Amino acid sequence: MLPTPSFDVIVIGSGIGGLVTATQLAAKGASVLVLERYLIPGGSAGYFERQGYRFDVGASMIFGFGHNGTTNLLTRALNAVNVQLETIPDPVQIHYHLPDGLDIKVDRVYERFLQNLTAYFPHESKGVRQFYDECWKVFNCLNSMDLLSLEEPRYLVRVFFQHMTSCLGLVKYLPQNAGDVARRYIKDPQLLKFIDMECYCWSVVPAQMTPMINAGMVFSDRHYGGVNYPKGGVGQIAQKLVEGLILAGGKIQYQARVTEILTENGKAVGVRLANNKIYLAKRIVSNATRWDTFEKLLQQKKLPSNERIWQQRYQKSPSFLSLHMGVKKEVLPQGTECHHILLDHWEQMSASGGTVFVSIPTLLDPSLAPVGYHIIHAFTPHWLADWQQLSSSEYKAKKEAAAWGIINRLEKIFPGLDEGLDYLEVGTPRTHRRFLGRDDGTYGPIPRRKLRGLLGMPFNRTAIKGLYCVGDSTFPGQGLNAVAFSGFACAHRIAVDLGF
Ligand SMILES: Cc1cc2nc3c(=O)[nH]c(=O)nc-3n(C[C@H](O)[C@H](O)[C@H](O)COP(=O)(O)OP(=O)(O)OC[C@H]3O[C@@H](n4cnc5c(N)ncnc54)[C@H](O)[C@@H]3O)c2cc1C
Repeated sequence: MLPTPSFDVIVIGSGIGGLVTATQLAAKGASVLVLERYLIPGGSAGYFERQGYRFDVGASMIFGFGHNGTTNLLTRALNAVNVQLETIPDPVQIHYHLPDGLDIKVDRVYERFLQNLTAYFPHESKGVRQFYDECWKVFNCLNSMDLLSLEEPRYLVRVFFQHMTSCLGLVKYLPQNAGDVARRYIKDPQLLKFIDMECYCWSVVPAQMTPMINAGMVFSDRHYGGVNYPKGGVGQIAQKLVEGLILAGGKIQYQARVTEILTENGKAVGVRLANNKIYLAKRIVSNATRWDTFEKLLQQKKLPSNERIWQQRYQKSPSFLSLHMGVKKEVLPQGTECHHILLDHWEQMSASGGTVFVSIPTLLDPSLAPVGYHIIHAFTPHWLADWQQLSSSEYKAKKEAAAWGIINRLEKIFPGLDEGLDYLEVGTPRTHRRFLGRDDGTYGPIPRRKLRGLLGMPFNRTAIKGLYCVGDSTFPGQGLNAVAFSGFACAHRIAVDLGF
């Protein structure tokens, strides 16, 4: 018989999903302990500092900081624990540099974006508008109701009766993928490839495999709440959530790596840390990926059957090769936008090293770099397997070659980049695995084959009683606003279970 739990809830990991769960519960009066293996909070939304530069480790195109509606979940999460964060609006979500000379900017203003796109595809102007307008229908449904746990029947009944039309709308879109909707309106193969890239750049799968619910969110919110960069860097989101957590009475411990989720009679009751310390709680939440949670933290001989089914449907996406660069300001041509996507050949879109993502946050917040310099973060998908079994000199040489391959490609839009380089740090899938604690350094789960929209994504409860998952391997998937949604839902379900 174990002693009485010291906490209502233990959260393993302080990614944005974990922190939103923790702050929501602490704000409701639960006693919460967050255990984070690293030195700072944030996970893939963390940061690091070198020679006067403050680099975002991953995320930098941030949704969820709007002021209106209900989908502004980062704003709401911070407000719930009485903390605020100044943000800087980004006038253009992405500047695409695509094959066949497609050079398209996604303007914050919807009509301007449609104009930019239909300038290349005038014969498809009706179809383009029909497709993106249909995305708005999804978004308007989501944006009219509180986004909480779909596993809580009383909430579902209340929301259904309050927002009947929106709910029926969402039920219709839940099993659909964006590519099928696009094909209803658009015929031009090149335009369909563009829609693939519009999805791939955040879902890491083409439109045919991207759930319509997620597409509706991203393709509309970028023109509604917009993309907004947090002043001081993306790391500030987690820092502020931790500040709010402590204000609300919660606790966080760093360098506290959980090595085991303890169970008693099949129920999760606590955790063991790498230093053998044990903490007990009424409920355990894992913000680690599902692979880490079920294959490493739970010492079970057999995967629960619903996890096995999930793994048959979803696989790990690749990790990334990341270049964190400090460059002289002269490298950036006048009018350069903050986010870019580069692709040379359509068939390379999903290939390792094919699509290059670029973010230059200092265009929005110059305080992140020394005066006269900018940050360029460039990253491209890479598999861990390609970085294994190398001697340290082979690893170094491979890193160097891969980095210069990307720099040469970037020279096309930033001529003189090589000469203007002041600082360069290269992260491989091994770096992502080590510092983010994610199995194979994966970006997150992607469907193995075409699935029925979001229907296969698990919610927060798991097959283990008392154990919940939160973050990008739960509904609705990757991205900061998405994992914040998962955090709201997880906290809601636990609060109901514990009677808060
Ligand atoms: C290169 C890159 C670029 C991205 N760009 C964007 C973008 O522009 N916009 C966007 O919205 N999203 C972007 N994303 C995705 C986004 O960052 C993630 O989907 C999101 O941050 C995941 O949050 P999470 O809560 O699931 O967990 P994570 O961020 O994975 O955090 C989990 C936390 O748990 C900790 N942890 C894990 N295991 C243990 C353990 N055993 N014990 C204790 N602690 C543990 C980890 O250290 C980590 O802090 C990007 C991601 C990457 C990698």
